[in-house]
Amino acid sequence: MTRTSTGHVVALDVGGTVLKGAVVAPGGRVVRELRRPTDRDRGPAAVVDTVLDVLDELVALTRSTTGAPPFGAGLVVPGRVDDRRGVAQFSANIGWTDVPLVELAEQRLGLPVGFGHDVRAGGLAELVLGAARGVADCLFLAVGTGIAAAVVVDGRPYAGAHGLAGEIGHLRVRPDGPTCGCGARGCLESVASASALASAYARAGTPEDPGSAAEVIGRAAAGEPLATRLVTGVVDALADAVTAYVTLLDPEVVVLGGGLARADESLLLHPLRDAVAARLTFQALPGFRTGELGDTAGCLGAALLAWQRVGVPLSAAADARDPAAGPHDADGAQVAVEDDEVGPATGLQGPDVS
Ligand SMILES: [Zn+2]
Repeated sequence: MTRTSTGHVVALDVGGTVLKGAVVAPGGRVVRELRRPTDRDRGPAAVVDTVLDVLDELVALTRSTTGAPPFGAGLVVPGRVDDRRGVAQFSANIGWTDVPLVELAEQRLGLPVGFGHDVRAGGLAELVLGAARGVADCLFLAVGTGIAAAVVVDGRPYAGAHGLAGEIGHLRVRPDGPTCGCGARGCLESVASASALASAYARAGTPEDPGSAAEVIGRAAAGEPLATRLVTGVVDALADAVTAYVTLLDPEVVVLGGGLARADESLLLHPLRDAVAARLTFQALPGFRTGELGDTAGCLGAALLAWQRVGVPLSAAADARDPAAGPHDADGAQVAVEDDEVGPATGLQGPDVS
């Protein structure tokens, strides 16, 4: 089934601490937004109930806001995801195992439900609606509490054979580094995530003045030696991992997302680009851009999966976007994007869509 017109969808991004829901109009415009705590301490069954309740609530919001039911729903979750079968296979964060979320949500809502991995969906959103519009090959690197990536190859986020592609946070970059949550030692996430930066600062600094990762970056900008040394360490570790990615996959663009991407570009994005450039020998240096969608990237990705599920081409879903804000590379040059440059993304319509 292919639709030529498009309409509102509901979208839900399930995180370890918060559920971000939205009613989304074509073009990725968020019309209504709601947030609920995940309260994962209640156990996975209760979280699933809340997910279904919030989806219901979003459908009611769509009706009251637009006077019509949504076209469909999109749902994205963390961890190991089987997006073909619609199953949330595993999440250490939420504690669930093999939950057939699509089946449950479709029964509850009576609507088609698109489904996927939260970070891959965020990468999809940046690709179709955000900083990587018109780009076919890119790395979407989300650096926040943890570190994960969307591997975008030939216009589509690549899931891998087991739904585990993009776990760049678990590349070993510092063999003598701390033990990671995954059990290995020296993973990128254990040395370069926002939480790793904040706790390294708390360990080395004044215990009564720990500071969040954003504050540590601010202190580095102000020239504080300890913060500067730690932020440089984060940039170096990220550069090692990005260099490995560049060497393997030769991306056109690296998009930095997640909480740390809110830092001023001169503090993180530009030093990261320079550190990667210094490591390359024959490889081509990609463009470096800050994500444009912030923490709504996952939710907008869920909306795109909803449209995709009901047969709306992603190019059509994206067409109503704001043309004034174009993607920028880290050197500040605006990148021209023609309307038809969303072309590669339409390849995202898999054969299972029709
Ligand atoms: Zn790890």
